[in-house]
Amino acid sequence: HADSAMYLAKSRGRANYQFFDPAMVQTAYDALVMESQLVQALERDEFVLHFQPQVRTRDQALVGAEALIRWNHPQQGLLYPDRFIPVAEQQRLMLPLGQWVLREAVRCARGWRAAGLTGAPIGVNLSTVQFQSAGFVEAVERVLQEEGVPGEALELELSERMLMDDLPDVMHKLTRLKALGIRIAVDDFGTGYFSLRHLKELPIDKVKIDRSFVQDLPHAQDAAAIVRAIIQMAHSLGQSVIAEGVETTRQLDFLATQGCEELQGDLISAPLPAVEFENWMRRS
Ligand code: C2E
Ligand code: MG
Ligand code: MG
Ligand code: MG
Repeated sequence: HADSAMYLAKSRGRANYQFFDPAMVQTAYDALVMESQLVQALERDEFVLHFQPQVRTRDQALVGAEALIRWNHPQQGLLYPDRFIPVAEQQRLMLPLGQWVLREAVRCARGWRAAGLTGAPIGVNLSTVQFQSAGFVEAVERVLQEEGVPGEALELELSERMLMDDLPDVMHKLTRLKALGIRIAVDDFGTGYFSLRHLKELPIDKVKIDRSFVQDLPHAQDAAAIVRAIIQMAHSLGQSVIAEGVETTRQLDFLATQGCEELQGDLISAPLPAVEFENWMRRS
């Protein structure tokens, strides 16, 4: 009896301790503050897209660009997506935020097409909540229609996780997106778990080899083996391959030798504000 009373007191004590853990309270508070700031930020137009060029390995010709969101925070300066995307995802803010990204990217694509700068597809990252939301395909179609841009101007980046969920449903959505002319890429390929059957059956145009493998090239034998295997597998399924996070010419040389057709990374260019990306295109 005495023992169990002691146990109760202890466990309650532990629970109380957890409840008042200052670090936890701070984290919860930070998330709340950020949530209300994110809503305001959307209203005040504080988000911006940066664009990272994607080039063909053979001749470094521009073949696309990835749109990457940043938050121009009034006090904290430029914030990167890792700081606020997870909060937005928890709070369902990711729907309006993702919709903003889509429209802004398509708007930029329209401008560049009109100016004769590039007709290459602009890559847009999707969140799970977005891809799974009701009416997602219709929302994409509406943005394209309203902006007067063909689906060919858009590439959607999905994670392996998003493609694994419910094969018939994913298949249905991807088929409709493909019918609009939109390209489908699998982001951060190799970091999640993915079934070969999904990769084979889904209408996927491109796999993006994750930076974590690329950064260890060419010296790390395991990374080299994985990269080689991804390229061979994608090619045998009729899909193309882009390596992300390419930083050195040695990485580029290895990827070129292995037949990786496209590159993206700081070696080519860091992500750039729209105006700087336009200058980059005029220069190259
Ligand atoms: P991601 O889609 O894999 O994007 C690539 C990330 O690698 C970007 O970081 C890019 O700046 C960075 N990167 C590119 N080349 C290099 C390089 O050579 N070296 C290094 N060290 N890094 C490089 P960023 O912009 O911070 O984005 C991080 C992640 O945030 C993205 O990973 C993506 O998952 C997510 N994200 C970005 N924008 C959006 C968005 O609009 N919507 C959603 N849902 N997620 C987004
Ligand atoms: Mg991406
Ligand atoms: Mg990626
Ligand atoms: Mg990545």
